[in-house]
Amino acid sequence: MVAEPCIGGPIFSAVTTALGKLEGVSERVELIWYGEDAPWYDHGPQHPLRPARVILTRQLIHDFVIVDGERVRETPARDATGEEVGLVHTERYIDAVRRAGHGERGPWWEFGFGPGDNPIFPGMHEASVRVVGASLMAAEAVWSGRADHAFNPAGGLHHAMPERASGFCVYDDPAVAIAWLLANGARRVAYVDVDVHHGDGPQDVFYGDPRVLTVSLHQDGRTLFPGTGFVEETGAGEAVGTKVNVPLPPGTGDGTWLWAFREVVPPLVEAFAPDVLVTQLGCDSHHSDPLANLALTTAAYRETAVALHQLAHRAAGGRWVATGGGGYQWASVVPRAWTLYFAEMAGVSIPDGLPQSWIARAVQESGHAVPTTLSEQHIGDERGPAVARSIEALKQLVFP
Ligand SMILES: [Zn+2]
Ligand SMILES: [Zn+2]
Repeated sequence: MVAEPCIGGPIFSAVTTALGKLEGVSERVELIWYGEDAPWYDHGPQHPLRPARVILTRQLIHDFVIVDGERVRETPARDATGEEVGLVHTERYIDAVRRAGHGERGPWWEFGFGPGDNPIFPGMHEASVRVVGASLMAAEAVWSGRADHAFNPAGGLHHAMPERASGFCVYDDPAVAIAWLLANGARRVAYVDVDVHHGDGPQDVFYGDPRVLTVSLHQDGRTLFPGTGFVEETGAGEAVGTKVNVPLPPGTGDGTWLWAFREVVPPLVEAFAPDVLVTQLGCDSHHSDPLANLALTTAAYRETAVALHQLAHRAAGGRWVATGGGGYQWASVVPRAWTLYFAEMAGVSIPDGLPQSWIARAVQESGHAVPTTLSEQHIGDERGPAVARSIEALKQLVFP
C-alpha cells in the first residue's frame, strides 16, 4: 500500500452551516507540534501515558499528507510562562512541581505526586509548561485569527487541579487555555470533553464562573476514575446550569454514545453562543482501551469530529481549539482516532487504508501488529434505555 492523498490531491470537505454558508474551502488550520527542544512529558516506561502516542499521531497526520505547509500548517509549540500557568495553578504548586522535577526532596505527596498515577519525572515542570504552551499556541492561533482551527495532540491534561496533580496530569492545559482566552477578551468559552474520564479539572476551576460552559461525556463515576461527573453537578452561584455531565454506563457503544452527544452537546453549546469552542478529544472511550470500559469504535470519532466541526461553525464563529487527552492503545488506536479528528478539522479527505510507511513504523515501535485501516468492524451496544433515562434527568436540570 502506498501513502496517497485522494485522487487529484486533498479534497476540501464542504460543511454546510445552519446559515447555509459553505465552510472549509479556505480555512487555515494548525497542528501544534511539541518540538524536540523540551523534555518529553513522560512519567516513565511503565506508565500508560507514553510520548509515542503523540509522536505516532503526528507521523500518521504527515504520512497522510494532511499538512500542506500553507493552508494547513504545523507550528512549533512554545513554553507557557509562570504567569500563564498561574492563571489556574498556585505559586506554591508550581514551585513544588519545579523542585520535585529537579530531584529535590520534599513533601511532594501533598501535591498528588508519588508512585502510581503521578510519579515525579525529571524535567517535570519544563515538560508540563511545554504542554500548556502548546495549548496556548492553539488558543492564540484561533483567537488572533491566524487560524480557524488548531489542534494540540499533546494536550488535554484535564484532571490537574490548581494545587494537585491527578490522573497523569500535572498542569491543566485546557483550563489554562480557557483562562487565557477569557483574560484576552473572550466573553464566553464552551469546553466539550469527550474523554472516557470526567473532565473534572476544567469543571472545578470554572465551577462558579458563568462565562465557561463545560460539557463532559464520560463513563459513570461510580465505575471509573475520578469518581465525579454526575448530572447533579451543574455549577455554583451565577454559574448554575453551565456545568453539564453525561455519565454513561460501561459497555456504551457508538450508537448510544452518539445519540447522547447529539441530544446534549449541540443544543447547549448553540444556546450558550461561545466566542470559542475548546474540546478535549480523549479516545480512551475505545472498546479496546485498557483503562476504561466504554465500547466505541473509530466510527464514533469520525462522526464526533464532523459534529464538533459543524458546531464550531454554527455556534462559535468557527473558532475551534482542540487538544488530545486520554487513550492508551498508543499504537493501534490513538494515532488513528486523532488523525480522523485532524483530517476533519483540516477539511481534508483521506483514504481508509493507512500508509505503509506509518504501519511499518508503528509495528517497529510497538512490537506488534497494528490495524491497517481507519475504519473498524462495527460492534453493537445495548445501553440505550439506561442512557435515555440519564439524559432525561439531565435535561430537567440544565436545559433552559
Ligand atoms: Zn472549519
Ligand atoms: Zn481519560
